[in-house]
Formats: sequence, structure tokens, C-alpha cells
Amino acid sequence: MTTKRGQQVIAIEEHYWDLEVSAQLTTADAGGPTAIQERLEDLGELRIREMDEAGIDVQVLSHAPPATQRMAPEMSVAMSIGANDRLAEFVSTQPDRFAAFAALPTPDPQASADELERTVTKLGFKGAMIHGLTDGVFFDDKRFWPVFERAQALDVPLYIHPAMPHPAVIDAYYKPYTDDYPGFLTAGWGFTVETATAGIRIVLSGVLDKYPGTEIILGHMGEGLPFLLWRIDSALARPGNKPMAFRDAFSEHFYITTSGNFSDPALLCCIQELGVDRILFSVDYPFVMNPPGVEWMESIHLNNEDKDKILNGNAKQLLKL
Ligand code: MN
Repeated sequence: MTTKRGQQVIAIEEHYWDLEVSAQLTTADAGGPTAIQERLEDLGELRIREMDEAGIDVQVLSHAPPATQRMAPEMSVAMSIGANDRLAEFVSTQPDRFAAFAALPTPDPQASADELERTVTKLGFKGAMIHGLTDGVFFDDKRFWPVFERAQALDVPLYIHPAMPHPAVIDAYYKPYTDDYPGFLTAGWGFTVETATAGIRIVLSGVLDKYPGTEIILGHMGEGLPFLLWRIDSALARPGNKPMAFRDAFSEHFYITTSGNFSDPALLCCIQELGVDRILFSVDYPFVMNPPGVEWMESIHLNNEDKDKILNGNAKQLLKL
């Protein structure tokens, strides 16, 4: 365990599949037939062996997209409660190796706020992960503000994670290339556009003014937004726009993780825009394997103090681990 220098490694965007939830997912929503199903379904020996081999001490677990978000409301509520209970049971068997983000029944926003509270106060969860659209609607919509309100009250972050884009968007933006290049629709580009849009919309919606304690986490080095912050901020400051300080709001409320984007120049950009205190290590297991993530962190030219913050210190603080 740990890196060669003895740094503890906490990875915070690490996925699994609850068997009862995944049985309800359509192939399209799940992102097509997956070769990594064995790893997604494994909460046990294989997962722990691969953590040990790579030097990962702790995984903060979350359901893979779309979790329970594309079900009818009643079913989504029941499935979320069941899945979160089962996840808590697993975490309790090895509390020094695992922690968890809740799956929320977003088709029922009020129940989502209640389930967030239940999982945090009763099960010790560290926040919740939101996967893309619910009924075609982004999470900044006012119907979901009770979840932001509850997250603020509980002092836990909301992790905004990609899921399959809206079918009309797939048709207009990604066909006819999806057959030959399914990655174009998903982690190669489509997920990024979808999730960056979700992040921008959260800032524009005013929810951060209403609930100033809101903490948002974006994976994949901030879904490109740190690279674009200056331009977004500048364009939104032009005449015709409602006054707003986009870059300030983003820098104050957003945290980003390294999931599936082990790039030196991207990290440098993120450190310059957001500061090292807002960057947390993650792999995106099992969509991405553990060793390249840990090896990359070992290789980067960064002082040990800042590396410690990314590898464990910031997660301990933000998630109260
Ligand atoms: Mn992920």
C-alpha cells in the first residue's frame, strides 16, 4: 500500500455496480455492453487485490452511471435505499479501505434530499454522486434545489459525474461517428461536453448564491473548465449578460479530481487556475485501471507537500475521512 515515499493514496471516483440496480439498466443507458462488468460487480477480492497492487489505500465508492436516475420515481427511491444500504454494509466490513458516495433517486427530488441526509447521518456516507440528466433535465433545475439545500446543511459535497447525453444531442452531435468511435460519445468527448455544461449551468442558476456553502466536485480534471475559465468569465462579462463573476464562483465552490486524465499540462493548468487545495486524486476504476494513475502521480514534478494534498490531504478535509 501507499506510494514509494509512503504517502497514503485516497481515490475518490471509483465505481461499482449494485446487482439489483444494474439488472434494471438498459444497455444504452449503461453505455453499451461492458467488458469490465466483472470488476464493476466485484466488491471484494479482485478490487482489493488491484488496489493493493497499485498502492491505493482507500476507494471512495460510487455507483456507475446512471445509477438509479433513469427509473420511475417510486422504483428509483426503493432501489436507491436498497443499493445505499448494501454499499454501507460492504464499507462497514473494511472501513479503513472504503468510504461511499450515495446514489440518489433524482426522479423524486425531495426523496433525494432525504436519502442524502439518511446516508450521511445514518450510514456515514461522504456526499452524493449525480449522474447526468434526470428526465432530460440538468441538475441545476430548481426542482433539485432541495438537494443543494440539504447538502449545505449536512456540509457534504455533490459530485457531478457524466452519463449518456440526451438522445437528441446524440443524434445531432455524435452520429454518424458513434458506431466506429463509441468513445467519441462517451469519455472521449460527449461526457465532457455534457458534464462541463452541467457545471456551468450550476453557476448560472444562482443556486450557489442561495446556498453559499455548496461544494461541487467535477472529475476528469474539471471536464475542461479550468482550461476555459478565463474565456467563459470574459464572455459572460460582456454587455448583455446579467452581472456575474463566473471565475470567482467556480473557484470558490468547485473541486476537481484527476479521474481518467493523467496529464501533466492539464494538472498544471488546474493548479494555476484553482490552486492545489482544490485538486483531489481519483482513478475512475474500473473504467480506468489503477496503476497508470498512481504511477503518474509518482512521476510528476511537484513538491511532496502538494502531492500529499492531492493524494490524500484534500480528500480528508473535504470528505472528513
Ligand atoms: Mn467515473
